[in-house]
Amino acid sequence: MRPSLLDPLFSPITALAGVGSKVAALIERVVPADLGDRDARVGDLLFVLPNTVIDRRNRPGIAYAAEGAIVTLDVRIDRHQPPPRGNKSVPYRVYAHDDTGEIALTFFHAHASYLEKAMPEGEQVVVSGRMEWFNGRPNMVHPDHIALASEAGSLPLVEPVYPLTAGLSTKVLRRAIGQAVGRVPTMPEWQDGAFMRRHTFPAFTAALDRVHNPESPLDALPDSVAWRRLAYDEFLAGQVSLALVRARVRKLSGQPLTGSGAILEQLRSALPYSLTGSQETALAEILSDLAAPERMLRLLQGDVGSGKTVVALLAMAHAVEAGGQAALMAPTEILARQHLATIQPLAEKAGLRTAILTGREKGRERTETLAGLADGTIDIVVGTHALFQEAVAFKNLVFAVIDEQHRFGVHQRLAITAKGDAPDMLVMTATPIPRTLVLTAFGDMDVSKLTEKPAGRQPIRTVTLPLERLDELVGRIRDAVAEGQKIYWICPLVEESEEIKLMSAEDRFASLKPVFGERIGLVHGRMKGAEKDEAMRAFKEGETRVLIATTVIEVGVDVPDATIMVIEHAERFGLAQLHQLRGRVGRGSKPSSCVLLYKDPLGETAKRRLSVMRETEDGFVIAEEDLKLRGEGELLGTRQSGTPGFQVARIEAHADLLEAARDDARLILTRDPELQGERGQALRLLLYLFGRDEAVRLLRAG
Ligand code: ADP
Ligand code: MG
Repeated sequence: MRPSLLDPLFSPITALAGVGSKVAALIERVVPADLGDRDARVGDLLFVLPNTVIDRRNRPGIAYAAEGAIVTLDVRIDRHQPPPRGNKSVPYRVYAHDDTGEIALTFFHAHASYLEKAMPEGEQVVVSGRMEWFNGRPNMVHPDHIALASEAGSLPLVEPVYPLTAGLSTKVLRRAIGQAVGRVPTMPEWQDGAFMRRHTFPAFTAALDRVHNPESPLDALPDSVAWRRLAYDEFLAGQVSLALVRARVRKLSGQPLTGSGAILEQLRSALPYSLTGSQETALAEILSDLAAPERMLRLLQGDVGSGKTVVALLAMAHAVEAGGQAALMAPTEILARQHLATIQPLAEKAGLRTAILTGREKGRERTETLAGLADGTIDIVVGTHALFQEAVAFKNLVFAVIDEQHRFGVHQRLAITAKGDAPDMLVMTATPIPRTLVLTAFGDMDVSKLTEKPAGRQPIRTVTLPLERLDELVGRIRDAVAEGQKIYWICPLVEESEEIKLMSAEDRFASLKPVFGERIGLVHGRMKGAEKDEAMRAFKEGETRVLIATTVIEVGVDVPDATIMVIEHAERFGLAQLHQLRGRVGRGSKPSSCVLLYKDPLGETAKRRLSVMRETEDGFVIAEEDLKLRGEGELLGTRQSGTPGFQVARIEAHADLLEAARDDARLILTRDPELQGERGQALRLLLYLFGRDEAVRLLRAG
C-alpha cells in the first residue's frame, strides 16, 4: 500500500491549476517517465528538468544595456500610449525610466486592461527581456517578465528552460512544475547521512527546488550537487528494486532441465547454416545454466543480425525436451509474428508444437491456444504483452525468453515469472549496451555475447546525401528495383510542429507512388495489425520492392534479401537508432548500402553522428560514440533526452554514482532485507517516487 503521504504526487496533472486535458496531453509528451498506458501524475513533473537556463541577472541600467542582451531593469512607469483607435498596426507603448535613461516597452496586439494593471503609471516595476535599440532609442519588445517591485521576488533571475513541445508554452509548463514541487510532502531522509555530507548533497526537496529555481546557471546543470543528489536517488531506487527482484527470483530456485539432446540435434541439422563460434559458446552457456538447479538469469547481448533468435530457439527446444514449455516474448506484434515464422517450420521438423498469442488472437483461435498452453499440448509459444494476461495459464512453463528487453519493465519480467514455477529466464537485447548501462538496467545478470556476424555477410556501404539530391536518389532506386533489389525507406515520426515540417511516411509514399506504382508498400505504427502484416508479407515475398516505413521496423524485422536502406531526415535520429535501422540490410550474401538523407544545415552533433555511421559498422564502437556525443550535446546546451530508462540520471555525468548506488543497495538489503527499519521505510517512499513500486509489492506486508 502506498503511503498516503505521497497522495498529492499521485493525482493526475489535471489536478493542477492551469492544466486542463489539452495541456495535460502536451505535458505528457515532455515528462521523462515512461508512462505506458497511464496518465501523467503530478510527481512526473518533478523530474522534467531544465535543458538550459536564461540568465537574467544582468541589471546594467537602461542606458548601459547592450543591443540584443537579456537584461533585467528596475524602472518607474511614466505613461501609457495606446494605439489610436482602429489602428491595430501601431503598437501599444509604455514609457518608463531609471536613473540612466528612458525606455519604451512595446506591445503588439496588446490587451490594454492587462498592461494597465501590470504597470500602473507612477509605479516601480521590474521588467526582463531582450534589449533592442531603435534609432538610438532603447526599446524592449514584449518583455518576458513584468512584475511590480513589491512582487519582484517572483521574477526568475536565473530562469530554467524546459524541453518544450509545440503548443505548450514555457509559462504554462513552469507554472505546473512549480505547483508540483510545492506539493512534495515533508519526508524522512532515505540517504545515509555520512554519504550525503561527503558529497555535499542537499535534501531531496531542497535539491528539487534548487534545480527548478536555480540561483546560478550552474545549479541547473547535471553536475550540480542538486542534480547529482537526484540522480543518486534514482540510481539507488533502481538498484534497490533490482536487488529486491533478484533476491526474490533467486529464492525461487529453478529446476534442473536436462534431456538427451536428441531434439536439439534434430533442429540443429535442420538449420540451413552452421552456428557461429559465439553462437555455440552462448548456447553452451545457456544449456549449462538450464541444467543447473539454480534459476537462470542471463542476458544475451548481440548486435542486430548476429543471430540471437536461433540461439533462443535451440535453448527452448532443450527446455521442451526436458519436459516443460517455453515462451518467447517480443515487444511488438510484427516481431512476434516474425519470430513465429522463423521458429515454426524448424520446430515442426523436430516435432515441437508452436503457437502465437498476441492481442490480435480472438475467439476460437485464442481459446484453443489458451487450452493448449494449459494442458501442455503447446510446447513453445511466441507472443507479446498478451502473454502476461490473467487468462493465460501454462501447464509447466520452465523457460521464458524475452526479446528486446529494454521495452519491458521489471514489472513485466515478474509477471511472466508468475506464470511458471520459477522459469529460467533469458533476456535478449540487440543494442550493444556499454557495461555501465547493463548494470543499471539489468543489475548483476550473467551475460553471453554474440561477437561475430554469421559468415558470408557483406559490409554495408554507407553514404550521406542532402535532401536536395532526392531526385538523383529516386533515379538510382528505380534502377535498383529494375534489378530486383529490395529497398527500405524510413521516415521519421511526424511531430505536429510548424517549424520542422518533416516528410511523413504517408506523404513520401504518396509522392513516390507515381514512380513505383504497384511495387511500393507502406507500413507505419498507426496501421491495423492485419494491414501491417500484409505490408510486411508483400515486401518479404517481393510483390513490393520499396517499403516506406516509420521506425516500426526498427526492432528485429528480418528480410534477408533487402539490400538498400534509405533513412530520411537521418539527422533526426540518434546513433543507436541509425545503427539498428541500418542493421536491417546486409543480412544476405549480396552487397548492401545505406543512404542517410539529411536536411541542411546540420548541427555539429548531427554531423558527427552521420560520420560515425559512415566510418564504422561495429555496434560497440557506435554505442561508445553515442554516449560520448550525448555528453558533448550536453556541453553545447542542446542536451539530448536522457539516458534510456532514467528520468534524472545522465550516465555521462553521473556514472561515478552508479557503482556507489549498487554497493549501497546491497548493504541496505543485507541489513534490512524487508525494508522494515527506519531507513527502510524511508526508502520505500523513494521507490514510489521513482516508479519502482512493483518492487515494494515483493516485500512482506507491514
Ligand atoms: P538478431 O535477432 O540477432 O538481430 P536474427 O536472429 O534475426 O538476428 O538473425 C538474423 C539472420 O541471420 C536471420 O535471417 C537468421 O536466419 C540468420 N542467421 C542466424 N544465425 C546464422 C548463422 N550462424 N549463419 C548464417 N545465418 C544465420
Ligand atoms: Mg532479433
